[in-house]
Amino acid sequence: MEVAVLKETYPGEQRVALIPASIPKLEKSGFRVFVETGAGDAAGFADQLYVDAGAQVVDRSELANVDVFLQVRSLGANTVEGRSDLDLLSQGKIVIGMCDPLGQPESIAEMASHGVTQFALEMVPRISRAQSMDVLSSMATIAGYRAVLLAAVELPQMFPMNMTAAGTLTPAQVFIIGAGVAGLQAIATARRLGAVVRAYDVRPAVKEQVESLGAKFVELDLDTGDAEDAGGYAKEMGDDFISLQQQKMAEVVAESDVVITTAAIPGREAPLLITTEAVRGMKPGSVIVDLAAERGGNSEPSRPDERVIESGVVVLGPTNLPSEIPNHASQMYSNNVARLLLEMVDEDQHLFLDLDDEIINGTLVAHEGVVVNHRVSDLLDATCEEVAGVANVDSQESVGVDDSLSSDKLGDEVTDHISDSVDMEDDSTHDRLPHDHDIDDKEADESLTEDPSNVGEAEDSLRGIEDDDDVLPHDLSSVDDENDDTGEQDLIEDGLESDIEESQKLELMSDDLDDVEESHEDDQDGLSL
Ligand code: NAD
Repeated sequence: MEVAVLKETYPGEQRVALIPASIPKLEKSGFRVFVETGAGDAAGFADQLYVDAGAQVVDRSELANVDVFLQVRSLGANTVEGRSDLDLLSQGKIVIGMCDPLGQPESIAEMASHGVTQFALEMVPRISRAQSMDVLSSMATIAGYRAVLLAAVELPQMFPMNMTAAGTLTPAQVFIIGAGVAGLQAIATARRLGAVVRAYDVRPAVKEQVESLGAKFVELDLDTGDAEDAGGYAKEMGDDFISLQQQKMAEVVAESDVVITTAAIPGREAPLLITTEAVRGMKPGSVIVDLAAERGGNSEPSRPDERVIESGVVVLGPTNLPSEIPNHASQMYSNNVARLLLEMVDEDQHLFLDLDDEIINGTLVAHEGVVVNHRVSDLLDATCEEVAGVANVDSQESVGVDDSLSSDKLGDEVTDHISDSVDMEDDSTHDRLPHDHDIDDKEADESLTEDPSNVGEAEDSLRGIEDDDDVLPHDLSSVDDENDDTGEQDLIEDGLESDIEESQKLELMSDDLDDVEESHEDDQDGLSL
């Protein structure tokens, strides 16, 4: 089995799909690893490191016979340059990468028409067994962190409170909208920098997670009802709800120095939560970082990858933050992708796609000439056979796939896996992770259906938002840093434990904050941080 790591071609992309530390594990399972010259340079992984790890570094022209190609951005996620890969990707080749299947379904159809077997890493089902392969969580972690740093650089104030002989500097007021993976990481990062943080999410279940990170959960008087689907994602809320949410949040937005928006609905445009009028209510010099800019934006003035100034407020719409921290982003991505690759090897060390396996099945979007994921083919507004130009997907003979891939069954399963069902097989192991959920099976389309009962009664006032000025910055130096920054640890096996440690650490931060607050009350004259 030969696997190749391609050099990324998307403009500005600095990540690499596989880092040297992942190679021994793959070789042990029977893979020969080839790396395109210079593939890891931008992420800090020179060719020699790959050679030392056992890979062969070769020119692109020498990769024609390879079976499996690893990429960060394959065609759908790289519509700018991705087509240049098609010369390597003949019939039967396997591509594993991000490809924005719900945003760029035409690209999946194009890959299918080339006979390429495409795995979309965005579609890794959110089940406990697949947590170590979950690139969306990995990249959202990096993006949430980086968004706070961008805001901190833009803000004409410091984040932490300082009491000095030259006077007291009040801490920055940060508001995080959307407390999923990116939002929780943004909360933790802003708290580490000493800001006073508030957060809101339509999923009431996240209140506890927000508070455990030392932030205050903003209680809007909105009937979120059953806003969370069975997969732990938010459901799409109706226009009336969003309009009320905009009104009720405007006051919190106006009080904030920094707003970071991360609100998203899988496969949908991002909800517009901050109107231009609300932005005008903010103090000049305030900063909005809109992580949803690529999907239409949570804030009206934001534009993808632009720095917009609206009434003195800086509005950033970065679309590729993980690439700005390419070393760690690649490390996480590499562990995710290697873990998935190891799922495709049988006992005899041969490539084997077990189409009954829910991870393989859920992640596969193009196979043997067919777009095999119904959400993708529905988006193409066509049947699978029309899209890929291959007749009769319901006949397994015609496409030579396992009957688990018959279009109806696959579509149902994929929709279940991606949007709705999370089968927590080992809650005892994972119950510290902030994104774990015990859930029931629900109808597949539930997550995408507006539920009118979610639209609550209007009330003009915000409730439960208390003055948080008494929250003080905290000293993180007392928090053990157990991260291994060498990048050499085996996160394939240890990633989960690292996540648990991180979760514990975040809890420690919260405890630490309490200590600092207490000590501050004892000594008001001291210099805080
Ligand atoms: P996401 O990127 O799709 O959305 C980000 C956040 O935006 C979510 O928390 C969502 O509730 C929120 N949101 C949507 N509409 C909103 C609105 N109108 N106002 C405010 N907030 C809004 O989600 P994500 O971060 O990828 O993951 C969401 C959840 O999925 C996690 O918190 C977790 O529960 C679950 N998850 C599970 C696993 C797993 O089990 N393996 C892994 C990752 C995530």
